[in-house]
Amino acid sequence: MTERMKGFSTRAIHDGQAPDPVTGAVNVPIYASSTYVQQEIGKNKGYEYSRASNPTRTALEENFASLEGGTSAHVFASGMAAITALCTMMKSGDHVVCSDNMYGGTTRLFNQVLTRYGLEFTYVDTFDAKNVDRAIRANTKLVHIETPTNPMMALTDIAEVADICHSHSVELSVDNTFMSPYFQRPIEFGADLVMHSTTKFLNGHSDGLGGVLIGTKPEHAETFAFVQKCTGGILSPFECWLLLRGVKTLAVRMRQHDANGRIVADWLNKHAKVRSVFYPGLADHPQHDLAKRQMSGFGSMLSFDLGSLEAANRMLKKLKVCSLAESLGGVETLISHPASMTHAAIGEEGRRKLGITDGLVRVSVGIEDVEDILADLEQALTAA
Ligand SMILES: *Cc1c(COP(=O)(O)O)cnc(C)c1O
Repeated sequence: MTERMKGFSTRAIHDGQAPDPVTGAVNVPIYASSTYVQQEIGKNKGYEYSRASNPTRTALEENFASLEGGTSAHVFASGMAAITALCTMMKSGDHVVCSDNMYGGTTRLFNQVLTRYGLEFTYVDTFDAKNVDRAIRANTKLVHIETPTNPMMALTDIAEVADICHSHSVELSVDNTFMSPYFQRPIEFGADLVMHSTTKFLNGHSDGLGGVLIGTKPEHAETFAFVQKCTGGILSPFECWLLLRGVKTLAVRMRQHDANGRIVADWLNKHAKVRSVFYPGLADHPQHDLAKRQMSGFGSMLSFDLGSLEAANRMLKKLKVCSLAESLGGVETLISHPASMTHAAIGEEGRRKLGITDGLVRVSVGIEDVEDILADLEQALTAA
């Protein structure tokens, strides 16, 4: 009889983290050591130098591989460092097809840094998977998508895009930061690689940056371990430990984020001052059916339109429980203004194409008591 696959929370709490064999400590220690004693020439206990590998990092990487259903995971100093490492799979002359609505930092890295090294990028609307098919060329090596997108919460059908990629022998990577592996596991839909900014839901407490690449093939593990050693943008043992700690409560946090997210979205949808709400859990979201198929929850990311920059600013200034700040995925409710913050760099024309209006407000609904979030929004919306 094959061993039963353990549940998500059990894996989050235990995988990669057997009790310490020497002391019995239930938590993996922070191995604050740059180097490791060797027994004789060419003989060691699996660790030589902490840029290449570190036991706290190994524990975290085994844990992440298990949660996403991949075969390997490699962690980096930030989400951007992880995406940079991902792109080292390519060489000058290679081509990438990606979503035209991605995290701003990703677009900036692609356009302003990596094009200087001869990589080419084509941006398409991946909500219609046929656009991906049309954009793939002979030199295309990777398709990179983000679903749902920030801040419009538009979805891409992962299974459909994965099929298209594989018919061209191209790999698909998915930035899964917004859903976390608790609600969406792209590898189960055919993705070859998954990337996260662990800064967000995986950490969950807004107290550390990090990034991870999860692979499905032996060459992914080899490539990313080699990149960690060569480029050195690794995650420190302390940050790894913070993530090991954070991820233990991922399931309970995500369930509460989702419960609060649904309530806040419904409430905003009925509010007289709110023009429209973008949340995949709403029955009137154009991709609600795909959301139900592809995700096991709707999460807590949403955005809504107040009609003008002035109305948005009047509301944002009044927040007391919720905070006006960039980032997302922490236990506290964070609200941002995409047009002036995360999406300022793409300009008015870029924002118009994506539907990002000046009155759009993005919310990462936290896990405070939802009545307090609603009361804060209500008093702030009165000012809008
Ligand atoms: C934050 C974020 C990133 C970048 O991650 P950092 O940890 O800030 O470097 C990439 N993708 C998405 C979707 C993000 O939200």
